[in-house]
Amino acid sequence: MKAHDGMYIGGAWRPAAGADTIAVVNPADEQVIAHVPAGTAADVDAAVRAARAAFPGWAATPPAERAARIGALRDVLAARRDEIAETVTAELGSPLPMSQAVHAGVPVLVAGSYAELAATYAFEERHGNSTVLLEPVGVVGAITPWNYPLHQIVAKVAPALAAGCTVVLKPAEDTPLTAQLFAEATAEAGLPAGVFNLVTGLGPVAGQALAAHEDVDLVSFTGSTAVGKRIGATAGGAVKRVALELGGKSANVILPGADLARAVNVGVANVMSNSGQTCSAWTRMLVDADRYEEAVALATAAVAKYVPGERVGPLVNAKQQARVRGYIEKGIEEGARVVAGGPGAPLGTGYYVSPTVFADVTPEMTIAQEEIFGPVISILKYEDEDDALRIANGTVYGLAGAVWAADDAEAVAFARRMDTGQVDINGGRFNPLAPFGGYKQSGVGRELGSHGLAEYLQTKSLQF
Ligand code: NAD
Repeated sequence: MKAHDGMYIGGAWRPAAGADTIAVVNPADEQVIAHVPAGTAADVDAAVRAARAAFPGWAATPPAERAARIGALRDVLAARRDEIAETVTAELGSPLPMSQAVHAGVPVLVAGSYAELAATYAFEERHGNSTVLLEPVGVVGAITPWNYPLHQIVAKVAPALAAGCTVVLKPAEDTPLTAQLFAEATAEAGLPAGVFNLVTGLGPVAGQALAAHEDVDLVSFTGSTAVGKRIGATAGGAVKRVALELGGKSANVILPGADLARAVNVGVANVMSNSGQTCSAWTRMLVDADRYEEAVALATAAVAKYVPGERVGPLVNAKQQARVRGYIEKGIEEGARVVAGGPGAPLGTGYYVSPTVFADVTPEMTIAQEEIFGPVISILKYEDEDDALRIANGTVYGLAGAVWAADDAEAVAFARRMDTGQVDINGGRFNPLAPFGGYKQSGVGRELGSHGLAEYLQTKSLQF
């Protein structure tokens, strides 16, 4: 596949400071498809300098003009949709229809939403005898994961640009080609040189250098809770703003009056999507004791439709495949009942894992507590609503969730008691304006919509 052999810094592709490269592998057939440069602290420093130099000009650009550039970026992403989908499929392994609809489609919606928000957002407020100015934070260091390669980038870069910030992006090492395509799109959209910069590289090298750089004003990170905690500590030490989107273990709570078949089928689809590599996936299905076995049977039947290599892609790499298989073995060891899938033998070439359903899962089991990040569903039984709530809230995470009930009012009443940042009511629909982010150890801050934009602003009050 086409790949740039340099870094995108200050509006041009520049040679990397070092000679090391990273191999990009197609997880569906395990073939190396490209190499990209492995950035070092020197590349990060050059990119931060470029972003700093561009900051005053971009911050002073009228919001309507920033909005026009973000709108142009949206248009480029829309025009290059097929190429984006093919690139994501090549480096993430997701089936092409999924890449077209979600991986290439959602970023267009999100960029479009920020083109509108940049034009309409109130960057000045009046409170009594004060005018409050909402000013861009400065240079943003964005560190993104591989699971939704372009969405994760756009969900940080678009609001940062709308706010008037400049950005240095360090994308995941597994999916750098999508990030290079995005860098091309920023140039095509006419963003001024240095407003967006890209450094590919390894997390502990380039990512660490970006998170620790003294001239980065805000670090926005999405990924594992373990790395997020380190980045939070580094940023805290330097009194630097930080936004963290971390893991999840979301509950899909099916209350007794709900349409069980619909709730189970949508719940299974939610977890199988992207091979389970979604931080907000509803990986714990909670069902009342009376309908428990019926739900298990429905889930088993639903999962059978997700054939690896057809509707379900592989996991992103061999490490994730081994990790997910390890969790499945752990579930069996701790006494959960496999009703579909299992650790199984390797499914031939590609980093596939059989879609797996566990029944008889109890809340304290490892598979009910830790983020697996694979096509694995745990079905738990509850006695009454209070018990369901205890189980739903009983992990260190609080990213998302779902509630199904006889009507929306009953589901909302339950959702109000959940310790989580987002709840889908009787199914829900994706809304690019809805703030997304976690309670508890799922993170700090919000992405998307006006709340996502506010993360990149700082306030100055003028008294009259
Ligand atoms: P990770 O946290 O290691 O990687 C995410 C990003 O952080 C990548 O760009 C990586 O290069 C960078 N990074 C890694 N170490 C760093 C460091 N020391 N300093 C700065 N940046 C660093 O995640 P992973 O290893 O790719 O995946 C492991 C687990 O993380 C998954 O199984 C899953 O549980 C979780 N995860 C969550 C999300 C999410 O959206 N919340 C996304 C991907 C992975």
